[in-house]
Amino acid sequence: MKVALVGNQNSGKTTLFNQLTGLNQKIGNWPGVTIERKTGIIKGTEDELIDLPGIYSLSPYSSEEEISRNFVLNETPDMIVNIIDATSIERSLYLTTQLLELDTKVVIALNMLDILEKKGIFIDVEKLSEKLGVTVISISALKKTGIEDLLTVIKDKNVIQNRHNKIFEPRVEKEIDNISKTISLGHKRFTSVKLLEGDALLVKQTNEQVKSSIIILEDHYNMDLEQVIANQRYNYITDIKSSGTVIMNIDIITDKLDKVFLNKWAALPIFAVIMTLIYMLAVGVIGGATVELVAGLFDSIAGGLSDTLTNAGASQWAVSLLCDGIIGGVGAVLGFVPQLIILFICIVILETTGYMSRIAFMLDMLFRKFGLSGKALIPFIVGSGCSVPGIMTTRTIENQNERKMSIVLTPFIPCSAKLPIIALFAGAFFPNSAGLVSASLYFFAIAVILFSAVLLKKFIFKGKSSTFISELPEYKIPGIKYVLKDVYEKTMEFIKRAGSIILLTSIFIWLLLSFNWRFEYGVDVNESILASIGNAISWIFYPMLGELSWAASVSAIQGLVAKEGVVSSMEVIAGVAEGAGSVLFNSQIFSFFSGTSAYAFMVFNLFSAPCFGAIAAMRRELGSNKKMFKAIGFQTLLALLLSYLVFGIGSLIGVIF
Ligand code: GDP
Ligand code: MG
Repeated sequence: MKVALVGNQNSGKTTLFNQLTGLNQKIGNWPGVTIERKTGIIKGTEDELIDLPGIYSLSPYSSEEEISRNFVLNETPDMIVNIIDATSIERSLYLTTQLLELDTKVVIALNMLDILEKKGIFIDVEKLSEKLGVTVISISALKKTGIEDLLTVIKDKNVIQNRHNKIFEPRVEKEIDNISKTISLGHKRFTSVKLLEGDALLVKQTNEQVKSSIIILEDHYNMDLEQVIANQRYNYITDIKSSGTVIMNIDIITDKLDKVFLNKWAALPIFAVIMTLIYMLAVGVIGGATVELVAGLFDSIAGGLSDTLTNAGASQWAVSLLCDGIIGGVGAVLGFVPQLIILFICIVILETTGYMSRIAFMLDMLFRKFGLSGKALIPFIVGSGCSVPGIMTTRTIENQNERKMSIVLTPFIPCSAKLPIIALFAGAFFPNSAGLVSASLYFFAIAVILFSAVLLKKFIFKGKSSTFISELPEYKIPGIKYVLKDVYEKTMEFIKRAGSIILLTSIFIWLLLSFNWRFEYGVDVNESILASIGNAISWIFYPMLGELSWAASVSAIQGLVAKEGVVSSMEVIAGVAEGAGSVLFNSQIFSFFSGTSAYAFMVFNLFSAPCFGAIAAMRRELGSNKKMFKAIGFQTLLALLLSYLVFGIGSLIGVIF
């Protein structure tokens, strides 16, 4: 009898081989290649054991895989011993699902028993055997435990016969059945799956049935079939794992914390409280203390400089450019740095402690109720720093429709550039509850993402959800060095933007504000080029502001270049109109803002088309200008609609009470 030993690299094949054969070994090369071929006689038997090269799948991607596959298909071993590293069972079972498609008998040797417990992993061997429909023997090749059991099974050839579990979705299984009926080779199930995958070595077997099955499935999944089949294999493995067969990381502290943080009822309220506290701390406490301070600092710099320069005989326009335009605009944005630092610190702590993974996991369960996958959530969590890397992480979503949906929705999450807008308005109009109001916008964003996702999924991006393979990391205390480095990098990024893009746009705004169409300097701001542009579009913003304001309108448009630009533009406009050091919302130009219109304006800026950087990332990931414009259109229309609604409802409540 011939027995083949198959498994991943480093699963312990050679160690087990030595145990099973003792010294009866022959080492040579596989015919035609230099890869080592090891054969031996199993102790106490006449049976020959062949150590196949370590592989991860039976697809002919490497010469190792091709050798192993040819061996099991053509040299017809009587039995396959599939050795699995039990500490990375998920990866190992991928190969197993393929081996179980063969007609050959398979026995699984679950190796590394000795270190399982140390790694906090428990595997229910009986359950695993029952689920897979195959004999499973747990062993430690190194410590020589379970070897006798394995030997007995091999000698008696007493293993469960492959029962060819239907592990794929019914629609795929149906085509596999259809193809099986038309082929003459052995290993019908294995061959049929490979034919569906378009396996290069089997092209000769292709027939009309295969072609039509491929068309049917490609049409349905709108994706490469090899990928579809691989995904469904992983889904099957995840199902096995999550059915209690494998319990990972039984870490006592983690376990206890998860009982609280992942509690069915408490999890979401706790998350809400944590995020609210973060915003209260950043916007409320820190903002309350620093905003006045920093604003005062920039005002006195601008005021002092203005006096000095004027006395020194500098022309009025130069003084205005420097003080109102540059210092006003850039300073307005820099004033929010202390709040951002706090926000960055809190978020990196949530990330490194392992709590963010729990949030993703939890929201996954919530989203699943709406037919959405949690994989689509990771970009949102990354996006709370900046949408651009958020949009890039959508690459991990294998379902194309779901991926597109994530790209369109990721910019909705409040990124760091939106914080100045939120903090400015919340601080000015809700001074006693600035933190709560800021947090409410965060939850507003999640609600809108959820709501839009349900709609988009239903009408535009149809299809099944991707799986969310999530192995939750253990909780750990974050390293201070890592936290500081992360916060430093993100803060510097923000400061650099203030010094580049915000500087340029502030100058640009100042120019348009200081000249009229006849290029005369020093006109009344209401006669400026900027005002005439703003007047042309201010009707769009009327339903959210309750006022035709050219100044607020152009500031909002400014947010398309960079979201912080909304704040800097408003500061520049107020400065030019009323002189450096004027208090923003006391200026005649912005005094019309009320609590309701402030909230509506924040909502618009939160959801409207993101900044240039994010638009470019959307363009790259969506793959065409047309799709990008559609996405921007959707975002902007939704932003308008929501802000109109907020203003309408807010005003109504104001009238009633
Ligand atoms: P192969 O690549 O599949 O041939 O794997 P090897 O037999 O060379 O083993 C890879 C590594 O895993 C070696 O360092 C072995 O000592 C170790 N190893 C193999 N079996 C066991 C086991 O049961 N327990 C532990 N702790 N280590 C093992
Ligand atoms: Mg080896």
